[in-house]
Amino acid sequence: MNSSCPICLDTFKNPYSIGCSHIFCKKCINKWLKEKDSCPVCRKEYIGSFPIPIELITSKYKTRKITEYWRSFKIFVELQKMMDDYTNYNGTISNKCKRMDKILKFIYENKWIFKTNKIKLWGYDFRKVLRQKIDEFSINENYKEGKIWKYKFRDILE
Ligand SMILES: [Zn+2]
Ligand SMILES: [Zn+2]
Repeated sequence: MNSSCPICLDTFKNPYSIGCSHIFCKKCINKWLKEKDSCPVCRKEYIGSFPIPIELITSKYKTRKITEYWRSFKIFVELQKMMDDYTNYNGTISNKCKRMDKILKFIYENKWIFKTNKIKLWGYDFRKVLRQKIDEFSINENYKEGKIWKYKFRDILE
């Protein structure tokens, strides 16, 4: 993690991440994104714009809270990417179904991030999306499995 913005080389103003581990000022990265759609440092593709709390950058110590924040952030980014791929996928229904199943498994394995309430910070209502996806899954693909997923996620969907 960088301690100053790689574009203006100054301290961060309104720190943002675009999905990799690099951080930029909001203004700097927005300007860059008008020309290219990847990170100027590592070239990783743009996934979304995520505000990063300044305490995470300025804190000298890696507290449990900070470690947890980064872990949930990485999971969130991965999830966002999987969801985008799913939405843009034009294959057969059964392959789409397999992909959704993979996503649901991934969410289930990382269920703890819903409990930390960090999700809201990135402006994405995952509970709503999850509920919607499971409903879609039950209607279009597999009713029985949809019901099982609903049961598995009952504690976070309520
Ligand atoms: Zn900057
Ligand atoms: Zn990067």
